[in-house]
Amino acid sequence: MAQQTSQAVCRKCRRAGEKLFLKGEKCFTHKCIFERRPHPPGALESQRKHRSTVSEYGSQLREKQKIKNSYGLREQQFVNYVRSASGKRGADPAKELFSSLESRLDRVVYRLGLASSQAMARQMVGHGHVMVNGRRTTIPSRRLHSGDIVSVREGSRQKGFFGDESKNRIEKQMLPSWLVFDPKKFEGTVRANPLLDARVMPYDLKAVIEFYSR
Ligand code: SF4
Repeated sequence: MAQQTSQAVCRKCRRAGEKLFLKGEKCFTHKCIFERRPHPPGALESQRKHRSTVSEYGSQLREKQKIKNSYGLREQQFVNYVRSASGKRGADPAKELFSSLESRLDRVVYRLGLASSQAMARQMVGHGHVMVNGRRTTIPSRRLHSGDIVSVREGSRQKGFFGDESKNRIEKQMLPSWLVFDPKKFEGTVRANPLLDARVMPYDLKAVIEFYSR
């Protein structure tokens, strides 16, 4: 996927009307564009006021865009996840969708704190810096399962990804219940299937399922 400019990425937050935390450390500094311009790009003053009255369709669409952007997925990739989650008989589609999105290798790398953003996690995997169960893999969408171990290649640890800033981030990282990290071995383990948790997923997945079932 072509690399997006910083402004193009930040525009997604401005369109969503909230911070999506797509740029890693920058999102927590005064450089965050949303802090200065928390309105859609190009919106007039009158249109900004109008945003408070959105249709059900509009709010579902906005929710879908937020989730899709926070996982860094293209529309078709995201649709495939939704279809697969909705097609499982007897299962709750929202829970299924959450589980499959959170089981992606790039998401796990990001959740473990090995990368400061989802985009950086994808790049790390794509460039071959990450191993699963001791073997190098370059597929960011690879689905992980309980018991899988994620680590960074020995040689890659020296390559600027893991300066003091990164080590601090990893130490402070709040891990979801399905992940553990061993700082001595510098590896994370998936210990369970990701369970839908509002503290981890602040967006409305049911609205997304409804959006695509129209
Ligand atoms: Fe950009 Fe991050 Fe701020 Fe969003 S939260 S506008 S991605 S810096």
